[in-house]
Amino acid sequence: MLITLCGGEGAGKSTQVRRLSEKLEQKGYRVVVTREPGGTAIGRKIRALLLDPANRAMVADTELFLYAADRAQHLAEVVRPALKEGKIVISDRFADSTTVYQGVARGLDPERIQRVHELVLQGLLPDITFLLDLLPEEGLSRALSQANQGTRSLDEMRFEQESLDFHRRIRQGFLALAAKETNRFCCLDAMQPQETLTDTMLLVIEERMQS
Ligand code: C5P
Repeated sequence: MLITLCGGEGAGKSTQVRRLSEKLEQKGYRVVVTREPGGTAIGRKIRALLLDPANRAMVADTELFLYAADRAQHLAEVVRPALKEGKIVISDRFADSTTVYQGVARGLDPERIQRVHELVLQGLLPDITFLLDLLPEEGLSRALSQANQGTRSLDEMRFEQESLDFHRRIRQGFLALAAKETNRFCCLDAMQPQETLTDTMLLVIEERMQS
């Protein structure tokens, strides 16, 4: 089963990925935790390129193809082998982030993005995608305080370079995607306590397993 988490900055995806994997492992499931960009050694080099503030001149197409390259490696090296072994794969971000960040927010043609998805994913879709939804103002302030506490690198976060409007487009983009693909998406209010969020996700996953 492939489970993905998505959302804007500071929504708490990484924390929930960790909490969810711990709970699933306690229940006896075999779990692989991974992320995009940077779920493989090659992917980490691509991630560094993508998030290097010195690379501001990078055009949207280069960004799109680098995310696609990261995903191709990630699928071949991590996701497909783990799924083949019957494991639960939990990925912090996946193709939906490209649809929203490179498409909705950076304005690339959605059809071009769809064609790239088809090439890279070859039909593979997550079984469940959790959207951690949060007001951008709240997410940015959370992310900034993590950076101030040293628990997150400021360099790695694109948000500083972007306007609030950019982050609002990200939020709207994810919400629109979730409203369109209701079978796959589960939208959660990220203002809820961490325990509540993890418990809800567990319920949704176990329900899906039984159906
Ligand atoms: O989720 P994570 O913090 O690892 O993402 C790192 C950065 O990559 C974020 O600041 C996000 O804005 C950016 N990103 C992006 N396009 C994607 C995925 C992530 O711009 N498709």
